[in-house]
Amino acid sequence: MKRDPLILQLSQLFPSEQLHTDPLSCLTRGTDAGLYRLVPKAVVRVNNEEEVIRLLRFCYREKRSVTFRAAGTSLSGQTISDSILMEAGPGFTFTTLTDNGQTATFGCGVRGSVANRQLARFSRRLGPKPASINTAKIGGIIANNASGSSYGIRHNSYHTVRSMRIILVDGTLLDTADKESRNTFLTSHRELCGELLQLRKKVIGNPEIRDRISRKFELKNTCGYGVNALVDFEDPVDILQHLMIGSEGTLGFISQATFETVHDAPLKATALVYFANLHDVCDTILPLRSCEVHAAELMDRNALRAVEQMEGMPPELRQLPEGAAALLIDTAADNRDTLDAQIRDIEQKLAQIPMLTPLRFTTDPALYSCYWNVRNGLFTSAAATRPAHTACIIEDVAFRGEILGNALGDLRELLVRTGYDNAVMWGHLLDGNVHFTIFPDINNHEGIDRYAHFMEELSELVVVSYEGSLKAEHGTGRNMAPFVEKEWGSEIYSFMKRIKQVMDPQGVLNPGVVINDDPQLFIQNLKRIPAAHPLIDKCIECGFCEATCPSKDLTLTPRQRIVAYRHLAESEAAAGRKKITAAALKAIAYPLEETCATDGLCRIACPVGIDTGQLVKELRWQQHGRIANALATFIAGHMGEMTALLRTILPLPHAMAKVTGYGSLESIMRGLFRVGNGLLPLWTRHTPSGSKPIRDHRFTVAGEDAPRVVYFPSCITRSMGGPSAGYEGLSDLPATMLSLLHKAGYTVILPEERDKLCCGMAFNSKGFRKQARRKEQELNEALLKASNNGALPVVCDMSPCLLHMRETLDPRLKLYDQVSFIHDFLLDRLHLVKLPLTVALHVTCSSTKMDLTGQLLRVASSCVEKVVIPEDVDCCGWAGDRGFFYPELNRSALGSLKKGIRDATEGYSNSRTCEIGLSMQSGLTYKSIVYLVDKASEEPVHFI
Ligand SMILES: Cc1cc2nc3c(=O)[nH]c(=O)nc-3n(C[C@H](O)[C@H](O)[C@H](O)COP(=O)(O)OP(=O)(O)OC[C@H]3O[C@@H](n4cnc5c(N)ncnc54)[C@H](O)[C@@H]3O)c2cc1C
Ligand code: SF4
Ligand code: SF4
Repeated sequence: MKRDPLILQLSQLFPSEQLHTDPLSCLTRGTDAGLYRLVPKAVVRVNNEEEVIRLLRFCYREKRSVTFRAAGTSLSGQTISDSILMEAGPGFTFTTLTDNGQTATFGCGVRGSVANRQLARFSRRLGPKPASINTAKIGGIIANNASGSSYGIRHNSYHTVRSMRIILVDGTLLDTADKESRNTFLTSHRELCGELLQLRKKVIGNPEIRDRISRKFELKNTCGYGVNALVDFEDPVDILQHLMIGSEGTLGFISQATFETVHDAPLKATALVYFANLHDVCDTILPLRSCEVHAAELMDRNALRAVEQMEGMPPELRQLPEGAAALLIDTAADNRDTLDAQIRDIEQKLAQIPMLTPLRFTTDPALYSCYWNVRNGLFTSAAATRPAHTACIIEDVAFRGEILGNALGDLRELLVRTGYDNAVMWGHLLDGNVHFTIFPDINNHEGIDRYAHFMEELSELVVVSYEGSLKAEHGTGRNMAPFVEKEWGSEIYSFMKRIKQVMDPQGVLNPGVVINDDPQLFIQNLKRIPAAHPLIDKCIECGFCEATCPSKDLTLTPRQRIVAYRHLAESEAAAGRKKITAAALKAIAYPLEETCATDGLCRIACPVGIDTGQLVKELRWQQHGRIANALATFIAGHMGEMTALLRTILPLPHAMAKVTGYGSLESIMRGLFRVGNGLLPLWTRHTPSGSKPIRDHRFTVAGEDAPRVVYFPSCITRSMGGPSAGYEGLSDLPATMLSLLHKAGYTVILPEERDKLCCGMAFNSKGFRKQARRKEQELNEALLKASNNGALPVVCDMSPCLLHMRETLDPRLKLYDQVSFIHDFLLDRLHLVKLPLTVALHVTCSSTKMDLTGQLLRVASSCVEKVVIPEDVDCCGWAGDRGFFYPELNRSALGSLKKGIRDATEGYSNSRTCEIGLSMQSGLTYKSIVYLVDKASEEPVHFI
């Protein structure tokens, strides 16, 4: 096949690690959360300004178009390309906080939530607060002028960014905080600056235009360019900097930005109040604007209906009449007196507005989260119940407060008339900004025509009838580009076109976006959404799952796995096949299936609750041949023999290392691993040795009323719970666990026939479902018996196994992992002495899912002086035994661990297998938290 000359040229500019040109990478990395699909020819990952300049100069010279990408959560089709896609890599994830966090500089690749975590210790946060903040990055937040629930007009990037480093299309770097850089720029780009000043003159000189711009920007508005910069600023560099905000990558690259941050008051109160109709809710907007209100979130009856059956929702939701609406009002202050005064003020100002329930604020954390869960769950719930193969479109309009009630009435009428009567509506009341979701079927002409008709009518209603904005927060993209002229009128639109022309004369920066004269653009290049698999059909390709996925920097993210799978499903269907063939799956098995840790972390972040790991397990299950199945059945039936075999083999390399030294043995083992080509596991000094067998069933302490516990040592710790390098002088994990329970005065009961027991997780994660069910049943019976049908607590020494047990065993069993058992039962019974140590903790995926972080932190903090939890470290990627065969997954997942452990000298966690990978990547020895608690309590007692 003939190679595209573009790829050849790029490969001369960037090394292969930074350049992706294979069809799978181009398809999957080229996806954003919008409705549209373009597949880039190449994806280039840049890590510093010099690389950006190199690529932009190339694009400028060769007239090759380029689209910048941050987190790809955009909804209007502005982060896709059919040419070059440029991703900002880890080199852009730096932060500098100044003035106690009052100002902060972030690289364009920093996630919004990471920035806010860093600012939290100064009670500060970023002004822009999009709902996607956990995933969205600084570059995308600024370039979309994103905002959210709290004062999006006042606190958006336009009003809170103080300076930027910008790289223009010709490769010029402008630092707006640096006087010299500004002066140089004024000279080198005299013509450009002159053009901007000319445009300003035209705007200022025409009162009608100037007033129109100022009036329209009293509302949130991301439709077209931020031409208010021409009104608000005199200096061409200031104008340019503010035009960059909301420019969606069409005017230049934002390398970093300095924000003035906003105060985040710690005391919060909220009220959820119901009204007979949307009009009454809208009557609160003007009085609330004069109060100290941090968020006022409106929800219509469809939105409330979407969540009312969910667990933990306020029961009154179900009784609300048709047409009712709700408002969530949030206020915050630094002290109780101020908070109370703010609440009284709100109550007084809303006293005359009819409500279905009295206005009552709460500071109770449980009720506070319950009310916010109503608001946060509605989109999720609505999107999750839509039919397969429909798109999920979130619209985003804004109206002036005075006419909001009438506008929303007409909007609802339009939705019903055009067949979208199930649309869910919610919004940020203070800004008059309303979102609604519609679920059109864009796989066929009829669905597309209906959507096009709706959009035409929507633009009439918003722009002509109510002078509102067509895109308040989400950016123009391809979706609104055909309507920009309608919204602004031909003269202001011509100014916008001129801005694009002078800043990007070749039109290479994200062409087609923001400025586009094709009236049909918004229904072109639509994504196809096939019904591919019930486990993933609800995916909206938002990318919220990407940040925590351990394989994100190695192969694929969950979103990318889904995009790849959907593509396969569609291609196979187009070829007349009902199912994806084994050959098609095999061709992409390594990125799609083999390097997925199946930890299910993606589910936690997913707004529609998709666990991509489940899909991967299904694929593994479908692929197993008869031999693999027979082998799994044999292992499941001979667990005792298998664990005994491992116990015998595992100490041998450690004994050899005493003679050869660990370094030499590891080199040999690495060689064998390579020769084994996937059949032999990788052995390192951190691979555990075997545990000693536990002979007794009961370990009794003196005293009739000694508490009793059932201890289930997992098959992992029974076989490979022994010491490895860095464990000098320590016993294996089961022995240490018994020692600790004894010190706390517990009589310990072990289940009968424990040698054959296993929770089934290892079989399940490999897709051996039948064998997994068998092991689950056996364990269930044994634990019910040992615990007297759940009367006694059961503790297991591996958190992933414990999570699996909680998901599959009899609910009567009271199941604890080592952390929660120590926390709930042992801390008060042990004599702990704080050790003068700094230790690093690793929160495993199962601990995250069981919400054990706080408990792990409290347990460790009871034992040592300082505890560190490395930031930006999620799943370790070891995935049971996958790390033995795919160590690159572990290496990639823990890329930032070494930096994150800071001055810690020891590491602790609650999963023996994860601890292998953590030790390999950190330079510390990670052990079970049981060892730390045992060390901080009295001298160990040896049983075995
Ligand atoms: C479920 C859901 C909810 C959302 N809620 C909100 C919300 O409440 N409020 C809101 O405003 N938005 C919301 N969004 C839209 C989107 O998440 C935000 O606009 C977000 O800020 C985009 O950030 P990103 O990092 O994903 O940017 P990307 O999508 O990667 O990029 C956004 C644009 O910026 C350009 N760009 C990226 N980096 C740079 C750079 N360094 N320099 C110049 N240009 C650059 C890109 O080319 C693109 O045009 C939501 C999206 C989803 C899926
Ligand atoms: S299960 Fe884990 S590795 Fe697999 S896609 Fe989800 S987060 Fe990524
Ligand atoms: S799996 Fe969930 S979080 Fe990930 S892209 Fe799909 S909908 Fe978004």
